[in-house]
Amino acid sequence: MYDKNLQILLLGNPTLRKIAQPVVDIASNHTQSFLKDLLQFVNDQNGMGIAAPQVGISERIFIMCSKPNSRYPYAPEMEPTVVINPEITWFSPEAKKGWEGCLSVPGVRALVPRHTSIKVRFLSQLGDVIETEYSGFLARIFQHEFDHLQGKVFLDRVENSLEIMMEQEWLKMINQS
Ligand code: ZN
Repeated sequence: MYDKNLQILLLGNPTLRKIAQPVVDIASNHTQSFLKDLLQFVNDQNGMGIAAPQVGISERIFIMCSKPNSRYPYAPEMEPTVVINPEITWFSPEAKKGWEGCLSVPGVRALVPRHTSIKVRFLSQLGDVIETEYSGFLARIFQHEFDHLQGKVFLDRVENSLEIMMEQEWLKMINQS
């Protein structure tokens, strides 16, 4: 069982560094009520995505829920998508740097290289096998959240520490450009 009052774990918490375990029984009450709560939680937090380890559940589950906001006006609008036991089956050779943040690393933004397109396979909230392709911002979110299941955070992929900024300075920069 898990604590229904979900709380975000912050960088430094060892659970964020563990390899998460595959979900065995998607239909179980535990998993279904957790998914419901996680969907509500990421919506309340205004996040673009969240992975189960970020709330202390070391299982291979994340949610993608891109929508435009003041920080990412060009983010595509999507229905919140539950991703269970994901695999990335193909990466485009091309990668691009883009700005990322993370609920577990509040107030920090960094430029992170990600493959621009990926092919993925995962299970839906109902246990259906989904095979699809993501590109651009959605490919970025998927790779960011997938990393959380591997015990990685976005800062691990930063190539140059000069590409890490505090959010206040980052906002000044993007509002100037
Ligand atoms: Zn994150």
